[in-house]
Amino acid sequence: MIPPLTGTISSRLMPLLQKLRQVAGEKDRDRINRYILDTLDGLYGIEDGAIYLYFLHGNQHWLALNATLARRDGEQEISIIDPYQLNVHARQELEGLPHLQIPLQEGHRHLEETPHWQLLVYPLLHKETPYALIELQRATPFAADELEELDQFMGILQDHLNLVRYAETDTLTGMLNRKTFDENLDRVLASVHEAEAEPEQPNHQGAEQRHLPPEPGMIWLAVMDIDHFKRINDGFGHIIGDEVLILLAQLMRDSFRLHDQLFRFGGEEFVAVIRTGSDEDAARVLERFRERVAEHAFPLVGQVTISIGYTLVDPLDTPTELVARADSALYHAKQNGRNQVSRYEDLRAAGLIGSAQAKASDIELF
Ligand code: GH3
Ligand code: MG
Ligand code: MG
Repeated sequence: MIPPLTGTISSRLMPLLQKLRQVAGEKDRDRINRYILDTLDGLYGIEDGAIYLYFLHGNQHWLALNATLARRDGEQEISIIDPYQLNVHARQELEGLPHLQIPLQEGHRHLEETPHWQLLVYPLLHKETPYALIELQRATPFAADELEELDQFMGILQDHLNLVRYAETDTLTGMLNRKTFDENLDRVLASVHEAEAEPEQPNHQGAEQRHLPPEPGMIWLAVMDIDHFKRINDGFGHIIGDEVLILLAQLMRDSFRLHDQLFRFGGEEFVAVIRTGSDEDAARVLERFRERVAEHAFPLVGQVTISIGYTLVDPLDTPTELVARADSALYHAKQNGRNQVSRYEDLRAAGLIGSAQAKASDIELF
């Protein structure tokens, strides 16, 4: 017979299990983040907490504040910062933040103490690579049994978040998938409005906030499709075809900015949602990417080209309308020699294409 648990762990066990069930039953990231901070506050009396997303972009390390917990007049206040919105306000570089750098490097919890508070930081890992940090601050020291519980809690949390991530991404390239695009486009579109009215800054003390100037809100959706990809598969085999897709995804990540949203729509079709300051910038960014792909030497295959169709995002667009417009511009690029970038609005103004809806039946062709 195992003796019944008594004492402090037992009194926390039921609420802990209840909270874990709540988190494990949730797929929505915002709600998961809220539950995490609320749970940690409820069970351990956290005074200040934050969840950061971590990115390695080029050779720069970045953090984006994803959720914060603070106390205002003794009341708990949780703020969620939407990572899908194309804003750069809540991002900061990792330089000068050793309490966050150490757990990222070491891959396990980091505890820092001063006479007045304890700071506990957990990295969340996917295949041993960190992608988020949870930071907790409390005036009273964390006891050994609390730390043990927290280690287990964070382990379960990490497993659950990895499952959520698995459902959101394409397994071959690691890019966000079409389902994620469809389910989150409304958030991206909402950010077109918010670009004008500057969002309120979360006031978090854990790290020095590095404010970047707000960007003018002009958002574009670009659909990119590899030219004659079937020939690559036929000539070199499916595995080499897959390798081209992986390399193209990598080139996309390197070429676009951190806050641009990149998706693999399926097959050899990719989508980028980008913000630029002007029409010319959008054309330049996409043209530069097209060139970069055309100039890249793909192992075995050599040259691979892509065609791009893009359109200006209107906040009132539905995902279907938006994609149909970019797709009709892509169709035009394909019909006119491939390896080129076409803008829907230009083609419409020049009378070169009809309305995007009329072309919808063509979309299935590539
Ligand atoms: P176009 O220039 O008109 O786009 O011609 P295409 O050959 O690229 O277009 P098509 O739609 O005829 O062929 C796309 C090919 O992509 C067919 C399909 O076998 C291949 N494909 C789709 N998904 C994958 C994948 O995950 N891996 C590999 N290797 N091939 C894929
Ligand atoms: Mg193609
Ligand atoms: Mg295609």
